Amino acid sequence: MRFTRLRLTGFKSFVDPTDLIIAEGLTGVVGPNGCGKSNLLEALRWVMGETRAKAMRGAGMEDVIFAGASARAARNFAEVALTIDNADRLAPAGFNDADSLDVVRRITRDAGSAYKVNGKDVRARDIQMLFADASTGAHSPSLVRQGQISELINAKPTARRRILEEAAGISGLYQRRHEAELKLRATEANLTRVDDVLEQLG
Ligand code: ATP
Repeated sequence: MRFTRLRLTGFKSFVDPTDLIIAEGLTGVVGPNGCGKSNLLEALRWVMGETRAKAMRGAGMEDVIFAGASARAARNFAEVALTIDNADRLAPAGFNDADSLDVVRRITRDAGSAYKVNGKDVRARDIQMLFADASTGAHSPSLVRQGQISELINAKPTARRRILEEAAGISGLYQRRHEAELKLRATEANLTRVDDVLEQLG
């Protein structure tokens, strides 16, 4: 899956609608300090379902919304849209009926985040799975933050293992296993309750 376009509105320093075409090959982002280069990478991570405000360099997730500047009022929402070329049909089942996927995340003050794929409402989990299966997720090693290399060197083995798992494209499987285990536990509790009722009837 190849990223072909990134659109931002009200996201961090990108207060005005900004439309970036991502051409084939290597893309470089250059500019003076503080012009928003890291904000662009954070927009990518955010639209892929990032839930940790800290990874967005904020105290809360609403900090990604344009907070105002001397001559501009703060915004009430932020939106990032990422277009993915899916001509080779590598997206997981459920997303695989289109040549191109338009993934949109929008956050509104006091109302949280909402996600859409090709105009249809989807859950945060579906988006996280979509990118985890493609090994490009919000925690992917293909997105390297400033300072991340030294963090990696100093990381505990379990944290390092998570990075390797994301790179291998198996972190989505772990999430599914965790959800299956929760369902299993709920079913076991239900069975125990049925046994109690049967005992009372008998
Ligand atoms: P450097 O080269 O120094 O790392 P950079 O080009 O990567 O800089 P960023 O760190 O992406 O720049 O952008 C920082 C700018 O974004 C700052 O000017 C900061 O004020 C602005 N910014 C961040 N969050 C918001 C927000 N919520 N509202 C408005 N502006 C914001």
